[in-house]
Amino acid sequence: MDTRVVVLKNAETRCPVGILYLLETGDPIPINVHAFLVQHQEGPLLVDVGVGPRQLQQGYAQDESMTLPAQLRRHGLSPEEIGKVVITHLHWDHFSEAARLFPKACFYIQRAEAAWAAAPSSPVNGYDRGHVAMVVQELFDRVVFVDGDEEIAEGATILHLPGHTPGLQGVAVETGFGRVVMPSDSVFMYRNIEENVPPGWAMSIPDAMASYKKVRRWADIVLTSHDPLVFKRFPTGVIG
Ligand SMILES: [Zn+2]
Repeated sequence: MDTRVVVLKNAETRCPVGILYLLETGDPIPINVHAFLVQHQEGPLLVDVGVGPRQLQQGYAQDESMTLPAQLRRHGLSPEEIGKVVITHLHWDHFSEAARLFPKACFYIQRAEAAWAAAPSSPVNGYDRGHVAMVVQELFDRVVFVDGDEEIAEGATILHLPGHTPGLQGVAVETGFGRVVMPSDSVFMYRNIEENVPPGWAMSIPDAMASYKKVRRWADIVLTSHDPLVFKRFPTGVIG
């Protein structure tokens, strides 16, 4: 079986332009929240778990068909079949109470992300304390801490892509269509990487710019976590 990647639209919201593009202003623009299903011969792998109930009271919109269990069912999978989940970072639109929907999964998290989320040095940090508590308590026995790049299944590699947060990671996957990279919030929108526009929300701009370079080096195809343009470029949301 060739590896396939499926984009899962988990929620919609509107985002201030200054978060996406450094120093730009304007009305908030619509963005999506994507998670990803990697259908791999060693077993299905998920990238991020999406928003939880608290976010749905805070400007994120989601209907029942957008929940990850509903979307997995459409691909013939149940949440119990998910053995590996890569958590790109611990911000609430990527990791949340939705992790509880996957009772058999282990969660790959950069050690640097867990440390920063537990003890950030910036007052603007995007973490829900309850979610960080889940990592160090409720889910602790199923968390795999990662240091840097690591192959977690044949041809599926975690890439450390710091900048937005110090412990942000993406995933690169070999498919029949080339190497697909899911860079998470190291690349908010296609314009960021294609026009080299720095992100507005980054804990380190130099790291963020270096991560753009790393994504370009690895990727034949980039699948962003927030840009609705993904579905213009890949209308079925399926690659491979
Ligand atoms: Zn995000």
